[in-house]
Amino acid sequence: MSQRGSEFVQQVLQDQLSAYINNKPQAGQAESIDLINPSTGAPIGSLATASAAQVDEAVAAARAAFAAPGWADDDGGRAETLRRLATLVHEHGDVIAYLDAIEAGKVHRLSIDEDVADVVANLRYFADLADHHDGRQVQTAGGWGWVRGVPIGVVGVVLPWNFPIAMLGWKVAPALAAGNALVLKPSEDSVLSALFFAELAREAGVPDGILNVLVGDGEHTGAALGRHDDIDMVTFTGSGQVGREFLRYAADSNLKRISLELGGRAAYIVDAEHTRNPGGIAEDIVGAAFGNAGQNCTATSRVVFVGEPEAYEKFAGALAEQALRFRVADPMSGEAAMGPVINGAARDRILAWVDEAIAAGASVLARQVDVPEGDGFWVAPTLLQNVPNSATLGTGEVFGPVAQVLRVDTREEAVELVNGEPYGLASTVWCEDLAMAKWWSDQVRVGTLALNGYSEGTVATPFGGLRQSGFWGRDNGPEALDGYRELMTVWVTTP
Ligand code: NAD
Repeated sequence: MSQRGSEFVQQVLQDQLSAYINNKPQAGQAESIDLINPSTGAPIGSLATASAAQVDEAVAAARAAFAAPGWADDDGGRAETLRRLATLVHEHGDVIAYLDAIEAGKVHRLSIDEDVADVVANLRYFADLADHHDGRQVQTAGGWGWVRGVPIGVVGVVLPWNFPIAMLGWKVAPALAAGNALVLKPSEDSVLSALFFAELAREAGVPDGILNVLVGDGEHTGAALGRHDDIDMVTFTGSGQVGREFLRYAADSNLKRISLELGGRAAYIVDAEHTRNPGGIAEDIVGAAFGNAGQNCTATSRVVFVGEPEAYEKFAGALAEQALRFRVADPMSGEAAMGPVINGAARDRILAWVDEAIAAGASVLARQVDVPEGDGFWVAPTLLQNVPNSATLGTGEVFGPVAQVLRVDTREEAVELVNGEPYGLASTVWCEDLAMAKWWSDQVRVGTLALNGYSEGTVATPFGGLRQSGFWGRDNGPEALDGYRELMTVWVTTP
């Protein structure tokens, strides 16, 4: 329980503070949404959303702030501000993790260690890059010039709920470091940590109008940002379906830049011939499948064992044992490895997909029984075998704590399973032979290939998807910063 966190929630709800514009919290003027605690199913409260007029006000504030001196033109000053913000986020990690726990069911302890730490790392990393902004020079007999990146302008940021503060950090840190002004819409399922972050940004000295936050749903607020003629870019993380909407909005409005980070269906491949102890990696696999209740774009959807049937049986047994140990509990308790899923609709959909797969011939390899009771949105971590492709689970992004386990005879079959997917975000291969690991990295086509341990890389490595997992741009790494800049050439003609 965080005192500052609960006071913040009370204040937001009491004054209905859902629009943070020009560094001032305002009451929302449109229809209310209910904020629900997924661990209990009980309402936290209801909050008015931002109106269309407030969207316009936020965009105008961002435009004015972008044009004003002292932000886009001051690389060193921005870097210092972002470093101060990093320190404040670090100091308030407990509050941020509390807000994400009560609203998104995120495990408090892991949020502090992973999500908040990630935001701090992002802010510091991109502050350093902003500080060392260089261009490229070109010389010819007839002249010389330079090429440099300039901020894009006003950037709309539209976020999902599964990693509320971490996804915010992935977008906001590079977009601000590049010198842009932002209008950010968190998912309507997880608004609190974004509003709190805006407070910290003001305290850190982010100028008025540079970071505006609006609470609203997709249909109204999200679409208004997508269609706005004075927004120069939208950076989006979420589902493929909504990502496609943003491409349409851009085409129908001002051809704003659109960057999309979309869904995934990662595989975890075990190359048994080159894995000394396949059972020994079961814990890593289960964490990759069930961490964050499987609500992770890189969550393992399929565990693919390349090897003999006998070895597979032993491996599957070890995997089942680990799955049964995966602790589902209240996210604020110290013991939880995962909490609930985000809402009742998600729980019902995930369970329906599992039932459908079983009815179509799938068998249960392991299903956790020790799951909290009550009205929270709990789903038992589940491993299935023999899932037919005709079942929705066979091809869809389940986005819950469910994975299928299968065996193939050859590496080529495993590669085909990954490369044949419309998604191409991430996958893991366990292979302890260096030459063979190189072979896997040459064959498997995904944005992030983790070798010998589930990972999404670090703040310095670009993250994003091939095929239908992404569209233009990356999070993390210098490439993320480039994504929030346009290129400009200055050419000097010499006589
Ligand atoms: P979602 O697409 O339903 O919603 C994302 C955001 O879009 C929300 O803020 C929502 O309000 C808004 N939105 C919804 N409909 C809209 C519309 N018609 N117009 C404009 N905006 C609209 O996704 P979600 O359920 O919040 O998140 C889960 C998805 O996000 C999964 O598919 C997951 O794989 C993906 N994801 C991808 C990454 C990545 O880095 N590739 C990371 C996290 C999550």
